Amino acid sequence: MERTSSYPRAILHFDGDAFFASVEQAKDWRLRGRPVVTGGERGAATSLSYEAKARGVHRSMPMRDIRRICPDVVVVSSDYTSYSIFARRMYAIVREYTDAVEEYSIDECFADITGLEQSLGMSYEEIGKAIKAKLETSLGITFGVGLSVTKTLAKVASKHRKPAGFTTIPVEEIEDYLQQTEIYDVWGLGGASGTHLRASGVTTALEYIQKDEGWLKDHGIVKPQRATWLELRGHSVLSLGSGVRALPHSVMKTRTFSPPSMDRAYIFAQLSKNVEAACVKLRKEGVKAHALSFYLKTQEFTYHGIQMEFPVALSAPSQLLAHIQTRFDEVYVSDILYRASGVTLRALVPDTAVTLDLFGEFDQLSEKQETFVALDALNKKFGRHTVFLASSMQALGTETKERFLRSGPQFKKRINIPYLGVVT
Ligand SMILES: [Mg+2]
Repeated sequence: MERTSSYPRAILHFDGDAFFASVEQAKDWRLRGRPVVTGGERGAATSLSYEAKARGVHRSMPMRDIRRICPDVVVVSSDYTSYSIFARRMYAIVREYTDAVEEYSIDECFADITGLEQSLGMSYEEIGKAIKAKLETSLGITFGVGLSVTKTLAKVASKHRKPAGFTTIPVEEIEDYLQQTEIYDVWGLGGASGTHLRASGVTTALEYIQKDEGWLKDHGIVKPQRATWLELRGHSVLSLGSGVRALPHSVMKTRTFSPPSMDRAYIFAQLSKNVEAACVKLRKEGVKAHALSFYLKTQEFTYHGIQMEFPVALSAPSQLLAHIQTRFDEVYVSDILYRASGVTLRALVPDTAVTLDLFGEFDQLSEKQETFVALDALNKKFGRHTVFLASSMQALGTETKERFLRSGPQFKKRINIPYLGVVT
C-alpha cells in the first residue's frame, strides 16, 4: 500500500466520456468504432462519439453540416430512458465502495473515499482505479476519473486526460496542475465569474489561488467564487450532496387575492399560477418533486389543504395541476370566501434521479420538459405572461387579460402551443 498522507481528504470524480453516444454504442455493437451523433429527433447534436469528434464534428454544427463533413455518420434519436439506466448503474457501482456518493448529473458523480484505505486494504489511487475498471467493464463505456483533496480539484483532475483518463492531484501537485488549467475550465467559473476574473488579469487557475483575501475583497469576489478559490487551494469546503449545485428542500409559492373570492374557476386559476411559478423555480434548479401540498386560506384566516405524493417525480405544471384538480373539491367549498392560495413542492430530486420502472411516464415527461424550457426562454425574452397555461388565464388581472386577448402590433402576440394539459 502506498503512502497516502497527501490526501487529507480523498474525493473521486467520475465523468462518462461522450456519455449519450457511448451508451448508444454500448447498446448496439454495430455502432462501435463508428462516428455516432445523438439528438436526431430534434436535429441538433446532443452528444458525439469520439470517432465523430476525430472527424471534426462539433456539437454546435447543424445536422446538415455534420452529414456533409462526415457522410458515414450514424445519427440516432436520444434515448433518455437508457441514459438514466446507465446513470443509475454508475451510481450503484460507485456505492459498492462508499455510501458517500453525490449523483451530480446524468453522467457524473462524486464519491468521498476518505479513510477507506484501511477497510479496503487499498490506497486511494488503487480504490479509484478499481471503481473505474468496474464501471468500464460493467457498462461498456469509458470514464474520465479524477482523485484529489476537494470536489473542485477532483473535477480538474477528471477533465485532465480524455477519454478514459485517470488523474490524481495530491496536495503537493496542485500548483502544477492549476498552472495548466484555464480559469474558464474550472468548475463554477465557466460563465460570467470566469469572464470577470479574466478581465481582472487572471487567466489560469494557478494565478487565481495566488491572489489573497484582500484581492478577492477588492474585486468583489464573494461566496461561490470564494468557495472555489478555497477548494482550488486544497481546502475542502463543498460537501458532497451540496456544493455548487445545492438542491433546495422545497419550493413554495403563494398568492393573496383581493377582493376575496368564492369563484371556483378563479380560485383554481390562482393555484395554477402558483404551480407555474413553482415550476419555473424547479426547472431553474434542475429538480423535480415527489410531493406536493396546496392550500386555500379563507377570509376568516383558516387554512384548508391537502398533501399528495407521486411515485414518479414531476416538474411539468400540467401534470401537477392534473393532480390538484382531482383533489380540488376536497378543499374548496362553494359558499366560502377565500383570500389566498399556496402550493409547496417537496421531496425534490435532481432531474436525473427519475424512477425507472415507469418508462412510459418518464419519456412523456422528458418531452414536456423541453416544451417548458422553451417557454421559460420565451417569457424571459418577451416578458412574463407572454406564454402561460390556459388554466392560469383566470388569474390575470382584467387589464392584462384584455391586453392579452386583443392582438395588435403593440401587444404581446398570441402563440400557438401544443398540448399543455389541464384547462378549466
Ligand atoms: Mg461527460
